Amino acid sequence: MLKLSSLAFVVLAFAFFLCFIMSTGDGSYNYFQFVQQWPPATCIRSTKPCSKQRSLPIFTIHGLWPSNYSNPKTPSNCNGSQFDAIKLSPRLRSKLKRSWPDVESGNDEGFWEGEWNKHGKCSEQTLNQMQYFERSHEMWIFHNITKILKNASIVPHPTKTWKYTDIVSAIKALTRTTPLLRCKRNPAQVKGQPQFQLLHEVVLCLEYKALKQIDCNRTAGCRNNVDIKFQ
Ligand code: 5GP
Repeated sequence: MLKLSSLAFVVLAFAFFLCFIMSTGDGSYNYFQFVQQWPPATCIRSTKPCSKQRSLPIFTIHGLWPSNYSNPKTPSNCNGSQFDAIKLSPRLRSKLKRSWPDVESGNDEGFWEGEWNKHGKCSEQTLNQMQYFERSHEMWIFHNITKILKNASIVPHPTKTWKYTDIVSAIKALTRTTPLLRCKRNPAQVKGQPQFQLLHEVVLCLEYKALKQIDCNRTAGCRNNVDIKFQ
């Protein structure tokens, strides 16, 4: 009897161990998050000061992140081919300069390299380096978040606030899938004044092969029931 239960324990422990390895291991992901950032918000309270001219008033790409439902922090820094600048054609490079600039320091290629090495490598079996950057640029062109919000009268404003659902509905109406919004805390919160947060990033989700868009899970992101400023 005792032997049977210890055997069951060993089998269970091994199953848990396997699950753990599979959820954190290299190259294991369920879907993609395509993250676009609002540069003026990126530059607020940034640990690295932004170069002023990079504070663009358009949403630009932060990254395309293979992601896991079970562990939002993985996968990252997987085994795989390191970034190779040669693999970006001059044409793709000039497209990325528009869609994927480094808004913090102006080192565009350094930013692409960091994103590929930290995230892109983890889905190399699906998108090689060139496909990874091509697909990201295509998504940026196809879903112009700046224009979508502008058409819904959601434009930068110093005092106006929006509800989370106002912004999500405007995007969903065009993309037909639920995005995820990521916010930053208000750096100038005054005690006793109504709280608000700043719209920082819009995430669109894609299935495993990065071909079709899917609804994003609202796992992390903006805080519930706190109004959002877009400035
Ligand atoms: P992740 O590394 O997971 O892609 O995203 C977090 C990092 O991205 C942060 O360290 C943040 O500083 C960085 N980040 C966001 N926007 C930019 C950018 O425009 N340029 C650079 N170099 N880093 C950025």
